[in-house]
Amino acid sequence: MKILAVNAGSSSLKFTLFELPKTEAIASGVFEKIGLKDSFYTIKYDGEKTRKEVYLKDHSVAVDYLIKDLVDMHIVSSLNEIEGVGHRILHGGAEFTHPVILNEDVVARISKYNELGPLHNPANLLGVEAFMKALPGVINVGVFDTGFHQTMDEEHFLYPVPYEWYEKYGVRRYGYHGTSHRYIYKTICNHFGKDNLKVISCHIGNGASITAIDSGKVVDTTLGFSSLVGLIMGTRCGDIDVAIVQYMMKKTGKSIDEVMDDLYKRSGLLGISGVSSDSRDVEIAAEEGNKRAILANEMYAQKIANYIAMYNNELGGADVITLTAGIGENSKAMRKAILEKIASLGVKLDEQRNDFRGEFRLISTDDSKIPVYVVPTDEEMEIALETYEIKIKNN
Ligand code: ADP
Repeated sequence: MKILAVNAGSSSLKFTLFELPKTEAIASGVFEKIGLKDSFYTIKYDGEKTRKEVYLKDHSVAVDYLIKDLVDMHIVSSLNEIEGVGHRILHGGAEFTHPVILNEDVVARISKYNELGPLHNPANLLGVEAFMKALPGVINVGVFDTGFHQTMDEEHFLYPVPYEWYEKYGVRRYGYHGTSHRYIYKTICNHFGKDNLKVISCHIGNGASITAIDSGKVVDTTLGFSSLVGLIMGTRCGDIDVAIVQYMMKKTGKSIDEVMDDLYKRSGLLGISGVSSDSRDVEIAAEEGNKRAILANEMYAQKIANYIAMYNNELGGADVITLTAGIGENSKAMRKAILEKIASLGVKLDEQRNDFRGEFRLISTDDSKIPVYVVPTDEEMEIALETYEIKIKNN
């Protein structure tokens, strides 16, 4: 069965076509600069990458090109082969705890949460609408970044603020990257042949979060009401004292939106290092002796280590620690820095085992108290799998 996994952004649309249940990626691609004059798209299929420069007026036009090319490039022999489309949707509030079949009514309900994810949700739904129009009769499934975290209990998702903020306005921890954390959890459980593991899942990319999971249920997670908190990220600050916002507004005369923009776009690795938001650039600068780059890396690794220690406590002792996403999968230096900072938990890095990129591997020693694995994430695959399961149940 062929299933499309789709991630629609405000000016882009990424897709991967999977053959399931074989979990084989057949083709993938990205439509970029949607709505702009220099829009284009690329499709990877059969070892080749095709690039076309065409005007993509909106998401619907992009989807029309996609389904035409799937047939023209003989990726599918007919559109009937596509039996489901799974969509990444950022925010489903507390209402959407599981993947859901999308129809007009459900889309309207999801759009109530657009104000909680204003940069992503409306764009995700544009993708949904485009596929509903282009492939009528094909099941569309929404898979929420917030969904997995809705297994958290009140003790962990509430903030210590006036309780009516939660009751009246939905102020609570929602958590993000849920699709990645769930995929990682399933993968590591499969590896051990168990379904009740206590896992600390570290998703460390440009955006970053750690989730503590016990027997398939989220105990705690570092991203919160917004995607600004928790770990230090590429450009996002992570945990800071909220009173800084008011102070900086008074000091600089900036509006609240301008100060928030600084915290979202000019903080994190970029803010501390002054070099870049990209960990590769910061690593190179640090190797060359740039003091702020060294400081940025130290602070970055320490924050991760601190959350791992805290979550180990919350889990009553973790069975496994996993590292994933751009930095977790690829940066040997950052993995080493993190593991050295959790030595007090009895975690020991095996330097030889750590000498690789982008694969599923154990990087701790055999006598490490908690084993540490690198587990490459695949959110598209998870979206396709969830869509496949719903499709099978509804046949
Ligand atoms: P996102 O999906 O949040 O945009 P990614 O998971 O793609 O982010 O991660 C991007 C980060 O991964 C960047 O900071 C990048 O520098 C880092 N990264 C990717 N490849 C490498 C590498 N080979 N070595 C070190 N860091 C890497």
